Amino acid sequence: METMLAARMYGKQDIRIEEIPIPEINDNEILLKVKSAAICGTDLRMYMNGYKDIAEDNPRILGHEFSGVIEKVGKNITEYKVGTTVAVAPNMGCGVCDYCTSGKGHLCQVSFQAPGINIDGAFAEYIRIPEQAVRQGNVIILDERVSTEEAALNEPLSCVYNAFQKVGVYPGDNVLIIGAGPIGIMHAKLAKMAGAANIMINDLSKERLDICRKVDKTFIGIHSDELEQEVMKITKGKGLDVCITANPAPVTQKIALSLMGMEGRINFFGGLPKDKENVLLNTNSIHYKELVVTGSTKASVAMFSKTLQFIAEGLVDVKSLISCQYELENIQEAIEASRNATGLKNIINFK
Ligand SMILES: [Zn+2]
Ligand SMILES: [Zn+2]
Repeated sequence: METMLAARMYGKQDIRIEEIPIPEINDNEILLKVKSAAICGTDLRMYMNGYKDIAEDNPRILGHEFSGVIEKVGKNITEYKVGTTVAVAPNMGCGVCDYCTSGKGHLCQVSFQAPGINIDGAFAEYIRIPEQAVRQGNVIILDERVSTEEAALNEPLSCVYNAFQKVGVYPGDNVLIIGAGPIGIMHAKLAKMAGAANIMINDLSKERLDICRKVDKTFIGIHSDELEQEVMKITKGKGLDVCITANPAPVTQKIALSLMGMEGRINFFGGLPKDKENVLLNTNSIHYKELVVTGSTKASVAMFSKTLQFIAEGLVDVKSLISCQYELENIQEAIEASRNATGLKNIINFK
């Protein structure tokens, strides 16, 4: 039996590098040789807190932001060929419900699957791509201008693009992003692409604000101590057109409401911890300022495909978000680096 190297999670803070059999595929599936897989906040949360059914007798390979080269195709598949480099949109719906048929499989309530979440993911040399993903167009052939590392970063970018479309960012807007992590910077990059006038990024960490300015010197980093006065100064007392909360702190949703100008648009991008999801908000500010408050989660295949195009055309540069590249054997080190949050995206690369 042929084997591969895989990083399997057995429970809370327990990831083991193992030699395991290469996954078998059926006639409707694809076997992908992973090239690049990025570490995400979701992976960190699963690692730190454990995850539903992952246990000593039920380990799972994490990793849902990835790209690779097709190694094998099931014999019923005619649309894909061995040797093609692809990125895979991880969210798979049932394919037949109202959400799925309208192209919003990420909102499917019937059956939802995602590699690295409830089936084996990409922190391994090979990954099985289920029939659902193949049928629903989740496997996207890469433009030659997009590297496998960039393609791995497309998944979070597609989620950010979902928010971008919901909230609407237009030329001349004053935009604030609360949270200067890799996601916050992706929001800032899309706002810049859309022609926003001032792109402000707020964080408690001075280090993170410095990183933002390094990524793009037009990004205005604002420390939380001076957030209100800086926003009012930059917007000449009007308040914001757009605010996106890209962090898990409930208080930032309150802050967002208080900093909005008339007809401002808000996106609550970051989900909150389960025990902190009830937030006391001043809804009168929504009423009197005629605000639009939106939410967004995950991304559709169409969004995933669109943001790959942004990367290919050079509209959004994601390369500047890559901090460090690791081999699978050193995934523990990569996880630690991501946890310490001093850098941006850490990527596992395969030969
Ligand atoms: Zn992710
Ligand atoms: Zn569905």
